[in-house]
Amino acid sequence: MNNKNGNNKITIGVSGMHCASCAKIIENKLNKEDSIKEISVNPLTEQAEISYNPETFNQEDISKKVKDLGYSLNISKENNDLDEIKDQKEKELKDQRIKLSFAIPVTVIILFFVFWNIFSSQPLPSDNIFTPFAFIAASITLFWIGFRFIKAAIRFFRTGQANMDTLIGVGTGTAYFYSAIILFFPQLRETLNLKEMYFFDVTVVVVTLVFLGKYLENKAKAKTSEVIEKLINLQTKTAIVEKDGKEKEVLINELKLNDVVIVKPGMKVPADGAIVFGQSALDESLLTGESIPVDKKKGDEVIGSTINSYGLIKVKINKVGKDTVLSNIIKAIERAQNSKAPIQKLADQVAGVFVPIVLALAVITLATWLILGSMYLGWPLAVSLGITCFVSILAIACPCALGLATPTGIMVGLGLASKNGLLIKNASSLEKFGKTKVIVLDKTGTITTGQPDVDDIVSIQISKEEILRISASLEKGSEHPLAQAIVKMAKEKNTKINQVMSFKDFPGRGVSGKINGNKYWLGNASLINELKAPLPEEQLKKLAAQGKTPVILSDEKNVLGIITISDQIKESAKEAIAQLHKMGIKTIMLSGDHKKTAEHIAKEAGIYKVIAEVSPTEKAEVVRKIKGQGKITAMVGDGVNDAVALVEADVGIAMANGSDIAIESADITVLHGELDKIVKALKISKLTMKKIKQNLFWAFFYNIIAIPVAAGVFYPNFGLLLSPIIAAGAMSFSSLSIVFNTLLMKRAKI
Ligand code: ADP
Ligand code: MG
Repeated sequence: MNNKNGNNKITIGVSGMHCASCAKIIENKLNKEDSIKEISVNPLTEQAEISYNPETFNQEDISKKVKDLGYSLNISKENNDLDEIKDQKEKELKDQRIKLSFAIPVTVIILFFVFWNIFSSQPLPSDNIFTPFAFIAASITLFWIGFRFIKAAIRFFRTGQANMDTLIGVGTGTAYFYSAIILFFPQLRETLNLKEMYFFDVTVVVVTLVFLGKYLENKAKAKTSEVIEKLINLQTKTAIVEKDGKEKEVLINELKLNDVVIVKPGMKVPADGAIVFGQSALDESLLTGESIPVDKKKGDEVIGSTINSYGLIKVKINKVGKDTVLSNIIKAIERAQNSKAPIQKLADQVAGVFVPIVLALAVITLATWLILGSMYLGWPLAVSLGITCFVSILAIACPCALGLATPTGIMVGLGLASKNGLLIKNASSLEKFGKTKVIVLDKTGTITTGQPDVDDIVSIQISKEEILRISASLEKGSEHPLAQAIVKMAKEKNTKINQVMSFKDFPGRGVSGKINGNKYWLGNASLINELKAPLPEEQLKKLAAQGKTPVILSDEKNVLGIITISDQIKESAKEAIAQLHKMGIKTIMLSGDHKKTAEHIAKEAGIYKVIAEVSPTEKAEVVRKIKGQGKITAMVGDGVNDAVALVEADVGIAMANGSDIAIESADITVLHGELDKIVKALKISKLTMKKIKQNLFWAFFYNIIAIPVAAGVFYPNFGLLLSPIIAAGAMSFSSLSIVFNTLLMKRAKI
């Protein structure tokens, strides 16, 4: 895929990642490649977004480098065969379940012995039975179930790259090999003067608990991203194509442009198109969040995967496959999920340095125990306690929770947004929008319905009929809502339309053209002012003060008449604006309309401030000025003629209507609905950030208090020592609690 700067970008599946630090390892390695300009790896979606230099980029080479690290790139899945990814995930979960069905019973038996020995005076059974059993259990657990931890430990010794698995691998590996040496080389044990204390039980329990934690985490994580799966499942598998009067069922990927498909009541529209026969109401709720079915008739556009409610319709397909609205929505959400929120940078950096720091801390702790401990407790006990603390630190300090805090929050936040018919471009838009202090709103189509009607025609030099005829003829060439209102009126009155020569469109001002050799102008005061025709200022002001938009018709010398047009405020606008004010946000309405008209509408809607009579190009300038006052500024518009202003704002929000989805220029696209969706987006953004901050706090807090305890700092004074078994349990629990805390967001009332 080519983007605007000529950079090439691809999304590639990555497998073998277990934690956020895996993503970091891959990013660090590939960032050093000259051919790669930017890379962002998301451990949750298991995808990498790579922007690369097409001249030097070599996929095989990159693939190999990633493989050396112990991961693999699924190049073939560049186009995201999502079914395949799903299958693979299923397989992985099944594999994990098999392993756990061995590990859990074994762990339970081991724990039974461990606790028996702690709480009972009667040791049972004798070590002659327990130790060999524990040894066999530990060997199987470590090398089969915990193989990936061992792999990560080996990678660390080979390449110096450490991730969270490394910590567990080094910890449990040390416990295991230390014990094995004591068991099989009693003489060496005697020579080194070591206690006969084995850590096989620790190996089994730590590996199993961490593995179980990961399994549960995987299952829960899948819930954070199920929104895409839901959207994919919307797609129908087959379509009924009508050809030569006959119906034929075809597979969805055989559907071609211009095919006419039959959609019976209850069926889904197979792809995007326009109705060529019949009428019905279409349920678009799963796609746009609009709960009421939308009436559609011949000529109307329908979106693929929406559900036909009652009538039989025939649809001529105009978009298939990758180009459909559904596909675009899925792609947009995926891209957003793969992006990183600014707040994640900090967590990433911390997680990145955390692993080496923890390794160092563990080594220092062990050394301290060996040196200082042996002075007070004697060498044999000091070694045993040192190993205990070493393993405990490695087990508990795993910054998994830290790595999960932000991405899970972003995933659930984006999912909530999508469920409400809001498409958010990336994680940073989601983060930024919550901090917005000023919202600039375009008037037409945003605060008002954008479907105005002609109100009145004021004759000045020529008759009303003449005014309508000339105006409608001129407006035939314009797409503007005002133009459509005038043309509609002419149609209703069966007015004859004239041929227009040298038509000209002045964006945000009006139009001009020649009819029967006479030149006419139609538009606002700024356009007419350029002619020498005297403006009926007072009359204009009076009309505008009623909230109507006066459109002036003029020839070269005189104003001929005025058409007043009025547009209704959207139903929910008033309520939504009041809510925004309550949330501490300043609202500003921006309009190209007459100052008085704009003020009238603003007053009705309860808007705080109005800036009127600005041209479309000036709108971006105004947004830049407001932004310059140092407050985060969002701009809401229709995304078509406000595109520049949307891009200029910190957060650009487009109100899309029907199938024209302006994903490109906007940070947030409201797929359906009115201004109340802006309030929802704001709530979702604030909630997401609140969750992320909560998560980060708990993750930090947890690691900071747990490490000293695990190191045995409290042992000399309080006799407090953390068993590696408890440490592993706590570590798994902390990750799980972060994921579940995030999932609670789904229940929030937005
Ligand atoms: P808004 O800011 O309300 O979306 P625009 O910037 O699109 O408005 O247009 C500003 C003003 O320019 C309109 O209120 C109208 O007076 C005039 N105008 C723009 N296009 C046309 C047109 N095609 N016909 C008549 N008047 C127009
Ligand atoms: Mg507009």
